[in-house]
Amino acid sequence: MHELSLCRSIADIVERARGARSVDVVHLRIGQLRQVVPPTLTYCWELVTTDTDLAGSRLQIEHIPVRLTCLDCAASTEVSDALLIACGECGSPRVRVDAGEEFLVTSIDLTRQAPADPAHVAAAPPPAQPPAHPTRPGPRST
Ligand SMILES: [Zn+2]
Repeated sequence: MHELSLCRSIADIVERARGARSVDVVHLRIGQLRQVVPPTLTYCWELVTTDTDLAGSRLQIEHIPVRLTCLDCAASTEVSDALLIACGECGSPRVRVDAGEEFLVTSIDLTRQAPADPAHVAAAPPPAQPPAHPTRPGPRST
């Protein structure tokens, strides 16, 4: 499932970009040749961000169709089926791919927050507790 590793990469990028701010929406531009399944990507994003500071953020995906330039007739065409890479005019397979291979984080929407209030920050709840640790070697507390 390559969507999972894609989501880890996106999370790394977003984590570096956001600083201490909260993230609302992550905008992606994904070319059709990337063969990304959007529902799978969304699902993996939830998996990757659960229990992180990015939990609750959403992916907004802009799909980029495949655009080809034919080396035989010079036509520039879009293909609807990424598995059929051929000129839309003459059918020649001798084409140059101009678009469709993108995978970009184009922008990040940050959650609007009130100006920092020290009292409020001090009262912030502690981070969510991780699940109980599996049996860990150590002295018994009995
Ligand atoms: Zn052609």
